[in-house]
Amino acid sequence: MMKFVLKQVKNGCRLGQLVDLPKEVAEKSLETPMCMLYTRAGSVPYMGRDVLDRIDKLPGAVNMPIPLLVENMDAMAEFPGGIKKFAAMDDFMTYCSIQDPAVLTPSGYNTKKAVSVWSCHGKYELDIPGYIKLMSSLDVDWVQSLSDGDTDRNTSEKRVIKSVERTINYLDELLEEKEKHEKLHSTKLIGTIVGGYLEEKRFHSARETAKRPVAGFSMEGFHNFGPESETFDLEDVKHLLSKTLELLPQDKPRILPGLMSPANLLFAVELGFDILDTSYPLFYRQMKICSALCYDYNLPPTSTDNILRDSDEQSLGWEMDLYDERYREDTAPVVKSCTCYTCTHHTRAYINHLLKVSELLAKLLLNVHNLHHYLRTFEVIRRAIADDTFKHLKQHIINQKPS
Ligand SMILES: [Zn+2]
Repeated sequence: MMKFVLKQVKNGCRLGQLVDLPKEVAEKSLETPMCMLYTRAGSVPYMGRDVLDRIDKLPGAVNMPIPLLVENMDAMAEFPGGIKKFAAMDDFMTYCSIQDPAVLTPSGYNTKKAVSVWSCHGKYELDIPGYIKLMSSLDVDWVQSLSDGDTDRNTSEKRVIKSVERTINYLDELLEEKEKHEKLHSTKLIGTIVGGYLEEKRFHSARETAKRPVAGFSMEGFHNFGPESETFDLEDVKHLLSKTLELLPQDKPRILPGLMSPANLLFAVELGFDILDTSYPLFYRQMKICSALCYDYNLPPTSTDNILRDSDEQSLGWEMDLYDERYREDTAPVVKSCTCYTCTHHTRAYINHLLKVSELLAKLLLNVHNLHHYLRTFEVIRRAIADDTFKHLKQHIINQKPS
């Protein structure tokens, strides 16, 4: 049975690992801080499995958000092996989140009995029996418990109290119902901590969720995902989050969903979160298709990596807009030191041309690079925590933030 092992805590940052997984999954990296692969309807957006397999050091975990799976529930129920086999991703540890971290969840549709999710074809209300049925057809390792995290900075106290109560009640009912279904014994529930921006409500949510037999925690209720999560500044709620995380047991993983910018992912790691996902490199700037992540994650004095950044790249900030006319005849790779398929096979000029003629291949090549860049950042972060250089790395990346 899969479990999380916390190996070290250094200045708040946690190094851990998911262990006891099937052999085909365990061959991939399951070390934390980790970035799960974000998928839509079971696949990474714009990428077939052949392209995905060309990406170096893929994480061994994947998030398949419920909203885009729910309408296939009946087909999945007929399919032996659940969603992993259905999506040909049975070599990944699989988690299903209630909402899609890359898409704005419409506000005002949750009730005492059900949580609303949106597929391409409209709204689905997930109540306890419906969710138990869905969990049976999915047959995955972790499923997020139903959550009413529909709160933000402007939500009234009364509504926040309701969101905490409902989320705890859904969890209790799901734990009770789940016990009655033998098929669900291997699927573990991830508890959701809500409570908006109100300290006491969030602490109550954390304390109560921590008492229940959950496999880990997802921290929500600050925004409704999608673009709201991209503008959410983790530093603003640093104090609230660190005090809330203190109430959780150390030996269970903490998930932070949403589009996490380079700054937010560094703050998240420093606060003690273990798992994020790759929705940001695939969907940042609302699918603005011309941007390539190019922040430098190599620490100059201690890095053994081959640093080939030139003064041009250093002035670019976190990303470069390859649609820009200045790349029309630029025969350099997107990022000179990058080892991804895009950077080792194509030039900025070629991608600039593909973008100018609206060729879809541009999006594919950019996603390959962006995914590689973001995933490599996690690898570098883990190494920096072990080497006690995380603070320098964080400052180095934050310093490149565009003004
Ligand atoms: Zn690259």
